[in-house]
Amino acid sequence: VARIGVDLGGTKIYGVVVDGVEVLATAKRKTPREATPDEVIHRIVRVVEDLGGVEGIESIGVGAPGPVDASGTVLVAPNLTGWDGPVPLAALLAQSLHRPVTVENDVSAATFAEHRAGAARGVADVLGVWVGTGVGGGLVIGGRLVRGERGGAAEIGHMAVRPGGRRCGCGGSGHLEAYAGRAGMEAEARRRHAAGEPTQLVEEAGDRRITSRVWADALAAGDVVATEIVAEGAEMLAVALASAAALVDMTAVVIGGGLAERLGDPWREEVARRLGDLSFGPPPSVVAAVLGDPGGALGAALLAG
Ligand SMILES: [Zn+2]
Repeated sequence: VARIGVDLGGTKIYGVVVDGVEVLATAKRKTPREATPDEVIHRIVRVVEDLGGVEGIESIGVGAPGPVDASGTVLVAPNLTGWDGPVPLAALLAQSLHRPVTVENDVSAATFAEHRAGAARGVADVLGVWVGTGVGGGLVIGGRLVRGERGGAAEIGHMAVRPGGRRCGCGGSGHLEAYAGRAGMEAEARRRHAAGEPTQLVEEAGDRRITSRVWADALAAGDVVATEIVAEGAEMLAVALASAAALVDMTAVVIGGGLAERLGDPWREEVARRLGDLSFGPPPSVVAAVLGDPGGALGAALLAG
């Protein structure tokens, strides 16, 4: 039975047609710059048309960048300009597409895809961690996705790793994302640069964003500030993973996301080594996500009703 999966991201909307775990077709379009709910829905409909429309399609799943409640309402989406407050995305899309629509958190969907068809295939208990601008999470226990009654399960980026620590984008303090996410790491690099510590990170990026590539370049050049900030981020990630793993006897951690991909195997192995030091009992395996761009959309399709 064919389903459509859509991954709604801050920069692009990626769609797939799937039969089981097999991807039959893909399509992508840019996310509208003014990403109001109406504009986003219109663009998703266009992606579905690019995929050949809904003829023969049983249901549609969407991964959205924010917490999602059981009715398919996206509660907040900080990466989509124009989304102020909750948006009943599943209901609105079902009206436009005339098919049942299920909406899940995007990292939850990507984690579920890695569990069913990717790096953690055959593993029942899996934690997914997506390290990019922020740090997102997904949790599969006993082969089932854990959502939480209010849609906020597995938000590993907002686990507390240091009391009274750095300010987090969510308004809290000492959360993992402030240490291991690209935006939090950039804020720390700029703070240290302004305090008189020279660093290639700011010299190369100037006023523009310190991209994952700039981070990788600075590390390769032995930049002290970059090395220390990345090492601290890896340590905090290991602290959060060790705590999460002990709670549920986790057997596998899948790491994905733009910054994680750019930092690559040496960084992931460093996280795994620190996790080993902090773990109670045998640590979970730490593996890289393998499905790439279609992963989130595939997971959303697999989770569609
Ligand atoms: Zn937070």
